[in-house]
This record gives sequence, structure tokens and C-alpha cells, in this order.
Amino acid sequence: MGKVSETKSLKAVLERFEETNEALSVVNLIEEFKDQMNRTTVYRILARLEENGYLQSFSGTGGLKWYAKTNESKAKDNNTVYPHFQCEDCGKTERLPIDVPVPEIAEHQVKTVSFLLVGSCGQCDEGI
Ligand SMILES: [Zn+2]
Repeated sequence: MGKVSETKSLKAVLERFEETNEALSVVNLIEEFKDQMNRTTVYRILARLEENGYLQSFSGTGGLKWYAKTNESKAKDNNTVYPHFQCEDCGKTERLPIDVPVPEIAEHQVKTVSFLLVGSCGQCDEGI
């Protein structure tokens, strides 16, 4: 496959996030797009999307970096955190349909917040 322009690469990554409410790990994204762009491009696109508030990142189990869509209507709102749930069994990481307010702490300025809950998802739990 030939070299794909950065604009096209950006569009491909955006579309990938549009079609799911799940968080995607950097490792997965690099693997998925390996025919279209190199890992440096993936990293650069993710960093850019995080900068303009479209994505938020957090560390999952094993120190992997994950990215997920922010709630678009609140993309610039730093006072709300969107918790994710990561299943230890199947690795699925989904954004929970709840917003958690970030507490105000006197004399401290919060810059980034991540909130990850780890456990078993409904599907894996059934199999026990
Ligand atoms: Zn699971």
C-alpha cells in the first residue's frame, strides 16, 4: 500500500473512534493501521486529537496507553471526568455512561484526571 497523506490518516483514525464507544489502546491502533501509516504518525495524530479535546488518554492495566472519545459537548470542560471500565479477562475497555465531577481542591490546580475501573465485564462474568 502506498504512502497515505497525513490528512487521510487523521480521517481514518477519527472514523475509527467514531464507530465505537470503546477506548482503543495505542498498541491496537498501530496494529490496525500498520498498512496505512507508521507508528510515529499514529502517535502524532493521537497527540493532536488529545490536544484539541477530541480524545482523552489514560493508562490501562500493564501501563498501556489508551485513548477514548471525550463527550463532544463537553470537550473543553476540565471539570468532568469520563470514567472507563477495563475488563481484566477480555481486555475490553468501555466508557461508562456517567460523568464524574472533579472535586475542587484549594491551592491545587488539576490539569489532567483519569478514572479507570478494572474488573470483569458482564459478558465475562456470565462465564464463571
Ligand atoms: Zn470481559
